[in-house]
This record gives sequence, C-alpha cells and structure tokens, in this order.
Amino acid sequence: DLPLVAICGRPNVGKSTLFNRLTGSRRSIVGDEPGITRDRIYGQMEWFGREARLVDTGGVVPDDEALIPSEIFRQAQVALEEADSIVMVVDGRSELASPDMELARLLLRGGKPLFLAVNKMDSESMYWQAENFRQLGFRNVVPISAEHNGGIGDLLDEVFASL
Ligand code: GDP
Ligand code: MG
Repeated sequence: DLPLVAICGRPNVGKSTLFNRLTGSRRSIVGDEPGITRDRIYGQMEWFGREARLVDTGGVVPDDEALIPSEIFRQAQVALEEADSIVMVVDGRSELASPDMELARLLLRGGKPLFLAVNKMDSESMYWQAENFRQLGFRNVVPISAEHNGGIGDLLDEVFASL
C-alpha cells in the first residue's frame, strides 16, 4: 500500500490548487463551484521515483463558509486517522485566523508528521511573510505558491522524507 498524505486547511487557502499541482490532475475543483459536497478527493503523486497517495480533505467544499469550521475539523480528524503525513495549508496573504490556530492545535495533538505550507507566496520576496505563521507551532514551515509552482520541490522533499 502506498503511503497517504493529507492536505488540510480552511476554504480558499489553495488546497485544491496544491492537490492539482502535486497530482498533475484537475480532479479537484478549484475556486467557487457551489453546491457540490463530495467531501474528499484522492489522487496519486510521484517524487524522484517514489509514489504516495494524496487526499484533498476539502473535497469540493460547499460555498457557505459558515458551514465550514465544523467540517474542517471533522476532515482533520479523518486525516489524523488515515494519513501517514499531513500538510496544513494557510493563505500567507491573510492574517492568521482563529480557525487556523484551532486546526493547528488539533493536528499538532495527532502526533503525525506535519508540515505547514504557507501558500500564495508568489515570489521569493514574499517568503519572509511565512515566518509569521510559525506562531502556529509547526516545526516545518514551507512557503509555497501552488499556483506558480514555487517552493513545491522543497515541500515534496520534506514530505517524502517523512514517509
Ligand atoms: P481551497 O478552497 O483551499 O481548495 O482553495 P482553491 O485551491 O480552490 O483556491 C482558492 C483560490 O486561491 C483560487 O482562486 C485560487 O486560484 C487561489 N490560489 C491558489 N493557490 C494560489 C497561489 O499560489 N497564489 C495565488 N495568488 N492564488 C492562489
Ligand atoms: Mg478545494
């Protein structure tokens, strides 16, 4: 069985964009697709000849953000149960929000290898902003741009090293 890596985080941080970047597919729908609630999407990724399965725990999220907090925590529980390694994604361009802190606390209690991908760092001149998210308590913090392929190799190096 291939190891499983889970992508967690609140809506709109770029989970599906990262999933698509890592799997090379468009199977996870990006952006504002209303009304579809399939809750997890699985794919496969490869890095220097090694393979792993990947799950986008956001699935195709409902468009009502008010519904979300309980849902992301439920998904995080599932990720903690089934994944070998977890990538939490935050939006590096937004303020640290309390759902991020609660989610981080939950994930940190789980004892699985954990990585914080600070997304939307579209140029290296923005990478310093990722440091702000160290407050979440993760040892492994990687600035990335899922959309522009920034930092993805560094993230994959770290994640595959944990598997
Ligand atoms: P999800 O709800 O966490 O799955 O987030 P999505 O992948 O659907 O992305 C939400 C929005 O953020 C979309 O408009 C994406 O185009 C945008 N986005 C995702 N990754 C990046 C990135 O690296 N840089 C920028 N600037 N925007 C991004
Ligand atoms: Mg999504």
